[in-house]
Amino acid sequence: MSQNFDLTSSLTHDDLEQLISDRRHFHRHPELKYEEHRTAEVVAQRLSSFGYEVKTGVGRTGVVGSLSYAPPSGQTGTGSSQTSPRTLLYRADMDALPISEENAVDYRSRNDGVMHACGHDAHVAIALSVAGQIAAQRDRLGGNLKLAFQPGEEGGNGALAMIEDGVLSDPQVDAAVGLHVWNNLPVGTVGVYTGALMSAVDEFDLVIQGVGGHGAMPQQTVDALVTAAQVVTSLQTVVSRNVSPLDSAVVTVGKFNSGSAFNIIADTATLRGTVRTFNKETHRRIPELIERVIRGVCESMGATYKLDYIRQTVPLVNTAEISDLVADYAAEVVGVENVVRDDSVRTMGGEDMAYFLERVPGCYFFLGTRNESTGMIHPHHSPRFDIDESALAIGVEIMTRIVRGYLSR
Ligand SMILES: [Zn+2]
Ligand SMILES: [Zn+2]
Repeated sequence: MSQNFDLTSSLTHDDLEQLISDRRHFHRHPELKYEEHRTAEVVAQRLSSFGYEVKTGVGRTGVVGSLSYAPPSGQTGTGSSQTSPRTLLYRADMDALPISEENAVDYRSRNDGVMHACGHDAHVAIALSVAGQIAAQRDRLGGNLKLAFQPGEEGGNGALAMIEDGVLSDPQVDAAVGLHVWNNLPVGTVGVYTGALMSAVDEFDLVIQGVGGHGAMPQQTVDALVTAAQVVTSLQTVVSRNVSPLDSAVVTVGKFNSGSAFNIIADTATLRGTVRTFNKETHRRIPELIERVIRGVCESMGATYKLDYIRQTVPLVNTAEISDLVADYAAEVVGVENVVRDDSVRTMGGEDMAYFLERVPGCYFFLGTRNESTGMIHPHHSPRFDIDESALAIGVEIMTRIVRGYLSR
């Protein structure tokens, strides 16, 4: 991949140094979901110093920085027939994971058992740098910018918490953007997809109740373990027989507990699993399809069951207009040949950015951070996860252009 980016044009040497040092600072001091107090404090302080209006405690530990449109003098507006200025929300998530870092780098986590193993440290650093760039060109801004530093992305649905606290209103947000550093893409490339980029994530907990007994007298029992084994196999047909072959879905049973001894027929079995879907209609229908299989198998075996079906996130769907805009600006920075727009960028992983994009049009995209030659190859959520930091400046360049472009006068 080509790596000859010329980014010095808008980021000064000091900007680049600050960007790397911010990312390393957040990496050293990771905080779990809804405990991002220290991170939020740094963010709030920096945004204030740039001249943003700052709100803290949005969605518990979230921070919102707003830069409002200031009409040029002489156009103070009341008599003007111009349409009201647009508002763009740029979201960066701040939380880390309960993982012990195994990297021997000097910016290694100082918080035992907690690690920025998904790259949200980079998201905060990039967004702060963009905040500075945009504030410096404030007079060129033709609309309102809201920077949402979100807590609790990792299983905390922090996006929903911020939405409930009104981040999408006053002023009403017209579009939302965000990025994720991405070790599945080489540094110097960017993945921009129109449509469902990431899947809905559901979870289920199933308890099957039978009647236990002696291993040699099955006629007196209802074998919960055999029933559960049949449920596991039958669940595979939900995707293969009930979902269109042109759509994608995954049903995974990841946990199976049953039985206490080799010669005892188990009275209960518990199964836990996850369901991933891209299509909204499939997402809506799938709990019912799963329960139908469970009910059928349990009835035929004489067992009863209790199913808890938990919705985690909705599918993340990017709209065409904003995705095209993002792809155009990405191409200006990395070259059109390095903007990946095909199906290969899609993932069955989930992201609560989906909740913003469920309510307003927008685009969430992937910033390539993989580098084979420096060993930055470990997957997200791995204790060895790390990124090629040269991607940070690319992220800042692209995001600054998106904000400026979308909110241009
Ligand atoms: Zn993650
Ligand atoms: Zn993440």
